[in-house]
Amino acid sequence: MEDSGPNFLGEAAPAIFQTSLFGFDTVEAFERAVREGAPYYTRGKNPTVAVFEKAVAELEGAEAALAFSSGMGAIAAALLAFLQPGDRMVANRPVYAGTHALLTGLLKRYGIETTFVETKDTERMRETIPGARLVYLESPSSYTFEIPDLAAIAEAAHAEGALVLIDATYTAGVLSKPLRHGADLVLHSATKYFSGHSDVVAGVAAGRAELVRALREPYMLLGAKLAPFEAWLLVRGLRTLELRLARHRETAAQAAALFKGHPSVRRVYWAEDDPLSKQYLKQGASLVSIELADEAAARAFADGLQYFKVGVSWGGHESLVLPLFAQPRIARAYGFPKGMVRLHFGLEPAERLLADLRDALSRIS
Ligand code: PLP
Repeated sequence: MEDSGPNFLGEAAPAIFQTSLFGFDTVEAFERAVREGAPYYTRGKNPTVAVFEKAVAELEGAEAALAFSSGMGAIAAALLAFLQPGDRMVANRPVYAGTHALLTGLLKRYGIETTFVETKDTERMRETIPGARLVYLESPSSYTFEIPDLAAIAEAAHAEGALVLIDATYTAGVLSKPLRHGADLVLHSATKYFSGHSDVVAGVAAGRAELVRALREPYMLLGAKLAPFEAWLLVRGLRTLELRLARHRETAAQAAALFKGHPSVRRVYWAEDDPLSKQYLKQGASLVSIELADEAAARAFADGLQYFKVGVSWGGHESLVLPLFAQPRIARAYGFPKGMVRLHFGLEPAERLLADLRDALSRIS
């Protein structure tokens, strides 16, 4: 990754422009900054944030990117930019529970309808696209890690004049390049792998310059801007992104294999098992879900793990376990089996984590 911000003394890390505004000596200089899109107020533009945006645009092969204070900020701004009351959109199912709540709650209240289609049902997706203004995908899907047929869906959407937005948080600009397969705009929760250290909540959208420009109005008016220091942390996170993803994957793949051979595990959800992974996914990442017998088994398994904290989110250095019944919003949205558990494999030694899984499973068998 190359830093592309201002460089003053040959510094190896970008400067942090911790300022809310930029002052000018003359009205003319101020007018020039406004005209040329130079920074003059940090809610609109900040040089440290711009370094992060440029890096993400490069990673995704996009013309431009815009950073937000959270993944939900990016998703909400993108949907508000392209939808109006009376519009209908199509989304795959399951998507992240917060996104599901946005689509079925807030956006519905403002007169925007969503048709949900199972991630793997491309035919149904094709049937429901006519008349929709936008198709929203998450690949791989949250919780079940299934991969939609992006190229086929994008072709169907574009034939109807609909835009394709994709939440590609899981693939982090490294494990897939959705813009090459027909997506118009890529959305990320930068909180996850881009940060990698569980110390930032952030989001980013990337795509063609005209589309990213269209996001600027909701971005500016909702005020979902990213803080300069958080952008700096994200730039630092990006430097180790590929290394971390490789390590996450190694452990997660071993865990998926362990789960598949274990009598207490009824089902394993691992992205590399999806038939479309060869087409769209370089390799899996840190997430594996499993289905255990029931809620009691899921609870005992999670409580029995020594090196996994029970927690939401993912993508950081530390391993996490989340029984899905314990998150009411997820349970309400999808009614997953009560024994379903999502695991994020962090950067701790793999042997330690695998031994921990074996122990916890042995105690519920
Ligand atoms: N997209 C996915 C796939 C997520 O898992 C999350 C959060 O868990 C989000 C979006 C929302 O991101 P944020 O929490 O940064 O708002």
